[in-house]
Amino acid sequence: MIPRELIDAIRDRADLVEIVGQTLSLTRKGNSYVGLCPFHNEKTPSFNVVPSKGIYHCFGCGEGGDVFQWLMQTQGMGFNEAVKDLGQRVGVTIEERQLTDEERGRIKVRTDLYEICDLASQHFQAVLRTRPEGEPARRYLTQRGISEDIWERYHLGYAPPAWSDLVDTLRGQGVDAALAVKAGLARSNGDRSYDLFRGRVTIPIQDARGRIVAFGGRHLEDLPGRKDGDPAPKYVNSPETPIYQKSHTLYALSHARPAIQRKHRAIIVEGYFDVLSLHQAGFTEAVATCGTALTTEHLSVLRKLTRSVVALFDSDSAGVRAALKSLDMFVAAGVEARRLDLGDDKDPDEFIQKRGAEAFERALQTTETLFDTALREYRQQFGTTPEGSRQVLHQLAPTMRRVEGAARSAMVERISKALQIGDNVVREYIGLSARSRLPSAPAPTPIRFRGTRELNHLLWLLLHHSQQVAGLVAQVDPLLITNRLDVARVIARLLAGDDLGAILQGVDDPDLAQVLRACAVEKRTVRDGKAEVLYTADRAGDAARQMLARLQLRQVEGEISALQAEVESCGFGADGSRYRDALVKKSSLVAHRQDLLRIITRKPNH
Ligand SMILES: [Zn+2]
Repeated sequence: MIPRELIDAIRDRADLVEIVGQTLSLTRKGNSYVGLCPFHNEKTPSFNVVPSKGIYHCFGCGEGGDVFQWLMQTQGMGFNEAVKDLGQRVGVTIEERQLTDEERGRIKVRTDLYEICDLASQHFQAVLRTRPEGEPARRYLTQRGISEDIWERYHLGYAPPAWSDLVDTLRGQGVDAALAVKAGLARSNGDRSYDLFRGRVTIPIQDARGRIVAFGGRHLEDLPGRKDGDPAPKYVNSPETPIYQKSHTLYALSHARPAIQRKHRAIIVEGYFDVLSLHQAGFTEAVATCGTALTTEHLSVLRKLTRSVVALFDSDSAGVRAALKSLDMFVAAGVEARRLDLGDDKDPDEFIQKRGAEAFERALQTTETLFDTALREYRQQFGTTPEGSRQVLHQLAPTMRRVEGAARSAMVERISKALQIGDNVVREYIGLSARSRLPSAPAPTPIRFRGTRELNHLLWLLLHHSQQVAGLVAQVDPLLITNRLDVARVIARLLAGDDLGAILQGVDDPDLAQVLRACAVEKRTVRDGKAEVLYTADRAGDAARQMLARLQLRQVEGEISALQAEVESCGFGADGSRYRDALVKKSSLVAHRQDLLRIITRKPNH
């Protein structure tokens, strides 16, 4: 493993122009360099290198990246190889770590924490397997039907009910108690440190690469010597540490990855034992959140492996509500979620024990998509009258606005069938009809993300004139600028002043990376009378206001056309107050639209 800090340091020191220039002749043009693209055939140069941003990008074919990607693309190196090779050229040897003391300190702590977690796991495993005080845990796991093969593969262990069993053991191995605290394995009480896990089966949590970073601890039911009424929580989990972030970590992901890719699906459950039980029954595509709710970060981890996720929700009304609430998160993450409902059985562990693996597979086969769940629920809630249908449409419109391409067409089709209204009415309602470029049949392939004129202009402004526009952009709800969560995240990181190289490393979608690189490289000019002049910083503020206004205008126009539909649907003899409400709302939106249009058509100040 090469530490992130080291990679950033190497990228920072590498001279991109010099390295690219070794295989390609470049001409200086302002702050950037241009040349004939090595990745496609061209006669006029559209290949750009921007040293200040550390990237190259071709406007002709869209290839681009940072200095590591250059070596990978042109020399056929792997990523690690590229880092090492470049490290040597710029005098950062991976082994010798010529870094600042602070960087070295950070790396050292992280490396230490991995080691400590590993030592702790070995100790817990030894207690479970061989020591007499491991007996209650052995009995417990056997009773739960967890085989010894699973103990071994998932490194289960046992922390005996003592105050400093682990702290003492680690100290004996030369690990300071303060580091055990830092690793989340112990707590300190003044000058005393004591174990976090006491009298618990320990379940190590591994990161995506299989390194142990934290533990979950399951309390034993019949713990000897426990006083009555002592409320020991069923589970204790490691706190977050420099190597463990709950919102990014999925339990058993490193075990589940091959199955998720093979079966094209992931099953998300809640408990460690649900996962162990499912894996034991052959459902090795199961993962769990680690004592937190599912987050967008979890989904973006899974999205790299599959676009299809089965999530478990309780079948009671609270469970259905939770399912509906999470729909937008799945949609925004670009993941299709299906809802697994196990009926009266509390959890998958119980279900499998009672009914077996085949019944579970059948339950998986009968899942419905969360979108269908939502459609069904809202129809029940609002009824099948025209007004009810409009309410259903109103509830689902924001969700549909978040998706693009074939997925959106599919949703429009589902809803128009269910409500028995034309799909053009659905499109009109959700405000897509006017500028919809969608063909009437679902597109065969998802439409590639290219951004929009306004969005790309804003990104460009954030990249080139951040000082003038960041304050303005920060005031606007990011979902008014974009309906894509990954784009919103990029904007947030740009506002935070993060480096483009680091931001690009966190972008999964190659189309989005391409848009960003293009914005970073692009030189914009503005028309002044008949001349094209350079885009100077004093224009940036006005331009940002314009772009923000245009993006908001889209939203407002969608709402106006929805209200218009409502006004028209009222008809004779309809509820008069509803009609009036719609008219009032509409007229205030029309006024807002006028304001936005004024901003948009205003002449820039010079
Ligand atoms: Zn090219």
